[in-house]
Amino acid sequence: MGSEELRKLPAVSTLLETPEAKALIAQHGHEQVREALRAALEAARQSIRAGGIAPSRAAVLADASQRLLVALSPSLSPVINASGVIIHTNLGRAPLSERARRAAALVAAGYCNLEYDLEEGERGSRYVHAARLLKQLTGAEDALVVNNNAAAVLLALSALAREREVLISRSQLIEIGGGFRIPDVMRQSGARLIEVGTTNRTYVRDYAEALHPVNTALILRVHHSNFTLSGFVHEPSLNELVALGAEHGVPVMDDLGSGSLLDTQPFGLAHEPTIQESIAAGAALVTASGDKLLGGPQAGLILGRAELIERLRRHPLARAVRVDKTTLAALEATLLTYLEGHAIEELPVWRMIATQPEVLRQRVRRWQRCIQGWGVKSTLVATQATVGGGSLPGQQLPSWALALITSSPDALAHRLRRPAQPGIPIIARIEEGQVLLDARTVLPEQDDQLLAMLHLALQDIPVSSVTT
Ligand SMILES: *Cc1c(COP(=O)(O)O)cnc(C)c1O
Repeated sequence: MGSEELRKLPAVSTLLETPEAKALIAQHGHEQVREALRAALEAARQSIRAGGIAPSRAAVLADASQRLLVALSPSLSPVINASGVIIHTNLGRAPLSERARRAAALVAAGYCNLEYDLEEGERGSRYVHAARLLKQLTGAEDALVVNNNAAAVLLALSALAREREVLISRSQLIEIGGGFRIPDVMRQSGARLIEVGTTNRTYVRDYAEALHPVNTALILRVHHSNFTLSGFVHEPSLNELVALGAEHGVPVMDDLGSGSLLDTQPFGLAHEPTIQESIAAGAALVTASGDKLLGGPQAGLILGRAELIERLRRHPLARAVRVDKTTLAALEATLLTYLEGHAIEELPVWRMIATQPEVLRQRVRRWQRCIQGWGVKSTLVATQATVGGGSLPGQQLPSWALALITSSPDALAHRLRRPAQPGIPIIARIEEGQVLLDARTVLPEQDDQLLAMLHLALQDIPVSSVTT
């Protein structure tokens, strides 16, 4: 019986001659279609060996077509962030503004003056782009943009502190996330890490005692980023460290991470140190990410004294961590938005931070009315959103979410992430057995997409209905 069924299966060469296969070949290429047909036939053979019957030719072709769809779609895809974490590292951190997206697309599509001096008609430097704007915004003497902040720290330490000593407080030996630890990055640079003070209390005198007139290359301050130091604690201010460094001719480097250019306090949040403040306090170098609170593309910004920045620029590692033209274009567009004073309205990260809870409640109400129309019950819940991205740990922004009540929250959250039909995945969060969709992190222009995907998911997963 099995072998008889097996014989009913068509050969790959026969299937390749069908009009359906020919249409697939025109779109995806011969090689890909043949592979998909082989895989579909192999699956059919296995099911026959397990006691099944031979599928029809149309069924094999349909299976192959489905396999092509999966094999030939990129693994990286947009998602809707309904998690309530604004700068979500796993979800790609800062969404770009429209202006930044357009700028990146424009240089991606053609040639540009990346390393070409249009005035002189000769080779120029990619490092001039964005540097002028960064200087203007922060008051720094000079600036350099690299691939990310980890690269910025690595480059700075490699260029300035290799085989010399870097003083850092024991309270600042942080793990950034994804297992990356500041002490490891420091060691990688060849710098010798000199830990000073204790986990909870470090004083200027601890640095002073560890400071060596020849061996000390840098005093490094690292922003705590993702944890808070509270209770019986002390750390010297940047001003104090700068004064100590100046006394001994040792520069202070301030690794800020989130690197805000705006004050977070008007939004009911704690104060997040800004780049301008660190420069004004006298830090010789400041490092920050481009895609945290700055709200731009992934990048590492290094700002500070011209003579130090020049040494970094000339270091061989600078080439290995350099940024591409699309990053520079998006970064310049983002910085211009700050210069013109439109950051809060135009940069998605700041728009999300600044949105009034009432506006979010209204949006969630609209979502609710819509799904009520499908006979699905839900509730509005007041939530606490967070900024994330290694900034403002423990700080919360009041928000609103739609709660879907279901006996299988994990199944619904999974279905939202992995829709049954092509579409944009939704990242929700589960709290107290409810699936929550937090409006603060959903881009308003994604509302209709969110509802469409929700409609699709709710057809598969039972939720409480309006009538029960
Ligand atoms: C986030 C962070 C980094 C790493 O920045 P990336 O841009 O992710 O490389 C380094 N230092 C601090 C203090 C940070 O918060």
